[in-house]
Amino acid sequence: MRRPRDRKSYGEFYIVKEFKSTERTVEDINLEGDLRVALIFPNTYEVAASSLGFNLVWKWFNKISQVRCERFFFDKTFDKFYSLDTQTPLDEFPVWAFIMHFENDLLNVLWLLKKKAVPVFNTERRNFDPLIIFGGALTYTDLPIFNAIADVILHGDFEAMMKDLQEVLAYESRERLVEKISRLDFASVPVLRKDPRTVALSDNINFLVPSSPLICTKGEFANRLLVEIERGCPWNCNFCMMGALKKPVRFLDPQILKEILKDHRFVGLIASNVTDYPWLDEIIPWFEKQKIQLSFSSLRLDKLNENFLRFLKKNQQSFTIAPESLSSRIRKILGKNFTDEQILDVLLRARRIGFDEVKMYMIYGLDEENDQDLNQIADFVNEVRRMGYKQIKLSFNPLVPKRGTKMEVRKMQDLKILKDKMKVIKRLLSRNAKVLFENLTASYLQYRINSADEYNSCELIQRLEDLSMNNNLMRSSLDYSL
Ligand code: SF4
Repeated sequence: MRRPRDRKSYGEFYIVKEFKSTERTVEDINLEGDLRVALIFPNTYEVAASSLGFNLVWKWFNKISQVRCERFFFDKTFDKFYSLDTQTPLDEFPVWAFIMHFENDLLNVLWLLKKKAVPVFNTERRNFDPLIIFGGALTYTDLPIFNAIADVILHGDFEAMMKDLQEVLAYESRERLVEKISRLDFASVPVLRKDPRTVALSDNINFLVPSSPLICTKGEFANRLLVEIERGCPWNCNFCMMGALKKPVRFLDPQILKEILKDHRFVGLIASNVTDYPWLDEIIPWFEKQKIQLSFSSLRLDKLNENFLRFLKKNQQSFTIAPESLSSRIRKILGKNFTDEQILDVLLRARRIGFDEVKMYMIYGLDEENDQDLNQIADFVNEVRRMGYKQIKLSFNPLVPKRGTKMEVRKMQDLKILKDKMKVIKRLLSRNAKVLFENLTASYLQYRINSADEYNSCELIQRLEDLSMNNNLMRSSLDYSL
């Protein structure tokens, strides 16, 4: 790629090149096909770098011989948008494939389309516009709002689609490409009124091993090789899309895991719950012998046995659990069926082993929640404090009912009620715990995008377009009545 001449593009070009220079290659990727696919993570480089899925889809797209896939991330200061891999401008790619893991990233998608003068509604796109594909975690269910924007939605596990994509993807006209993709069972093509007949699911994650082809030095898992050891989740929490939509659970063979990790010391294990991995007890001594330092995506508290807690203590100072509520009545409604005793037991065991910092993920904002439930949280935290914990962090998220889950028929609670509950929780807990709350406007936005239906999606997209131009989400005009 020739260096850009004008000053602005030059700056942007070097920012992207600089990010690329910080990455370490684990597997060589051939960029050889005729069909150029821009794989876009519609968020910052740090968020993109923390996503194993992003780098895996990049690796696997490039195994399709006709495809040359390059990675892009989002930055509102950019104009040209250069690829990470060869610093080629986005305009040179006829296919733009967005990884849709988070609802609110849709604002960045809309911003980018607008910036590049690509119509945001698929019905208005022309032959010379790029083909807009959506894939990612949000495609395991059908979100009506995506149907108004994407030309094509690929639903499910990418590796399970590869054989079919190999047959239909080619360097040819946009129209022909759309027509061929519409024949695939796992594809939606809204403008042709073609719905998906199935969600692509790989039977086995051992054939195409889900390990990252590169190590990023930025993001949540900086400097670690990322390996997915579990796909899906065996549990059925009533609020969770993962538990509802990614079934059955699939695990990576421990021998394959050892083979991948034998030359690595810093590793991130990706799973819905690392503690569900059936060979964990057996593999911990091997990790220790190899002096592998691990970090984890998530831990389930009822599986945190003494053995694992001791191992954890060697790797980190604090540990994180997700009881979701400290009121047993609310946990039951959420489908998180831990007893108070189970939670206290794990906290006590961890304390004996030497942990004195704990973080807990919590959900609030259910219609059934009352003062007694909130008081119970305070009583519980007092008890944890008495165990000798120096730092107790509670991170609260409002309940955002999601499509495909048992809670999809609910509505998110009114913002005023949620704000009042926040005040009560803060008042009750501030003496004994550090309390963090997810931004309510961002949560509400997430809810609106997820719950929009075929009748109000277009109106919402127009509102989101305006909002995407507004840098400060908190000052946005998006109101609860929309
Ligand atoms: S909340 Fe966690 S344990 Fe429950 S279904 Fe989701 S991923 Fe599984």
